Amino acid sequence: MSYDFDLFVIGAGSGGVRAARFAAGFGAKVAVAESRYLGGTCVNVGCVPKKLLVYGAHFAEDFEHAKGFGWSLGQAGFDWATLIANKNREIERLNGIYRNLLVSSGVTLLDGHARLLDGHSVEVNGQRYSARHILIATGGWPHVPDIPGREHAIDSNQAFYLPELPKRVLVVGGGYIAVEFASIFHGLGTQTSLLYRGELFLRGFDGAVRRHLREELEKRGLDLQFNADIARIDKQADGSLLATLKDGRVLHTDCVFYATGRRPMLDNLGLENTGVDLDARGYIQVDELFQTSEPSILAIGDVIGRVQLTPVALAEGMAVARRLFKPQEYRPVDYRMIPTAVFSLPNIGTVGLSEEQAREEGYEVQVFESRFRPMKLSLTECQERTLMKLVVDADSDRVLGCHMVGPEAGEIIQGLAVALKAGASKQIFDETIGVHPTAAEEFVTMRTPVAS
Ligand code: FAD
Ligand code: NDP
Repeated sequence: MSYDFDLFVIGAGSGGVRAARFAAGFGAKVAVAESRYLGGTCVNVGCVPKKLLVYGAHFAEDFEHAKGFGWSLGQAGFDWATLIANKNREIERLNGIYRNLLVSSGVTLLDGHARLLDGHSVEVNGQRYSARHILIATGGWPHVPDIPGREHAIDSNQAFYLPELPKRVLVVGGGYIAVEFASIFHGLGTQTSLLYRGELFLRGFDGAVRRHLREELEKRGLDLQFNADIARIDKQADGSLLATLKDGRVLHTDCVFYATGRRPMLDNLGLENTGVDLDARGYIQVDELFQTSEPSILAIGDVIGRVQLTPVALAEGMAVARRLFKPQEYRPVDYRMIPTAVFSLPNIGTVGLSEEQAREEGYEVQVFESRFRPMKLSLTECQERTLMKLVVDADSDRVLGCHMVGPEAGEIIQGLAVALKAGASKQIFDETIGVHPTAAEEFVTMRTPVAS
């Protein structure tokens, strides 16, 4: 049977674009449908604009620290509208780059919502297309719990386009987005509270990292409220909001921002016309080859709910393109040792097992820790401290996890991820000569375990 396309990709986000471009490069006839914005979440309402806002927020402390180095600055002022306009311009530039990348790779780009009609057919803008393989890469969408007054709250999509910087904000959640946006708002001068329903935010991260970040954020004046959850939100006549917590307290604010996780984007996708199954959490169920229960349909990225990070979606897209169209180069995606950063101020960088995970997995654990005041702050009043931590398997001497809270932790952890992936032992860390003077050299100079 002949088809219009060898591969039809639904969603031009991180995973979809990678799969489409590489499949076309391997000689396949490829189409991509995108309903909203080229580059997907990461480029438009995720990693990229978020990092630009984090850079923007960081200037507040840079100006403060500059004084210790002899600089005198006038009264610093910040204009949200300028930051957002410049951010939007940069994103439009990136959208154009994505369009060129796809078109120059020979991919047919369809601007519109795609709906599955059966295992081999998709409808976009009233037109029916057939394909040998269909790849669902539709990503995710913010999930806001259904509480009274939910319509007065915003999510991360809206936060990137707020017309004005709120004077007061309540950030709800304790994951990546909540912690990052609490840092952004606080850095830009908003009176910020972070409300998390549990004992301590960033569940799943190393305990020392979570505690250290709590201390550092509190030192900066960020209001952290744990065991706190909103029961209802009421809008006042002046446009401000009253958030009533489950414990009865009432908080007055200008903005309630929910960062309480993301759901798979399956809206009007037509899955009911296919044999694609969902897993117990509602994500598309795939096997190790990203194959759904409908033989001609594959799925990758946030919509399969494995690891919701752009580099993981890219790796999955690459794996699919290779397996379908260049099988001699196929390599499975390796989900071990995925490095990650939380771009809070200060950053978290982490790769491998937390101390808690290592103990749960039955390792005899040795822990090395260093806490210090970064040299850059020595001429300033700032009392921020950096944490670095190594989790080592006492039996084999292999380093199981590296964790950091401090400036540029994301940048530093990337190099360490290579070492951990290569199976580096603590002895190799010890024999590695440091780069002096840097913060990163601490990772190769920790000699005495703190606990075993
Ligand atoms: P997406 O990038 O979401 O792309 C899916 C695309 O499909 C979208 O463009 C959507 O419009 C389109 N689409 C959906 N349905 C249809 C349809 N029926 N027809 C046509 N098109 C459709 N990850 C990191 O690694 N680092 C970070 O710093 C980071 N920061 C983040 C910050 C925020 C605020 C958020 C929300 C996420 C962040 N992420 C980060 C996660 C990262 O953005 C996602 O993991 C990544 O974008 C997933 O890629 P994807 O291809 O699965 O989906
Ligand atoms: P996360 O899953 O990271 O965190 C969700 C948070 O919301 C958790 O603290 C969770 O609490 C809490 N929560 C969930 N449901 C409720 C509820 N009903 N009421 C109150 N609190 C609730 O999601 P995010 O939205 O922060 O981010 C989504 C994903 O995007 C991340 O997991 C990450 O993969 C990716 N991302 C990556 C970034 C990066 O690489 N720097 C940055 C931003 C996002 P509990 O822990 O108790 O379940």
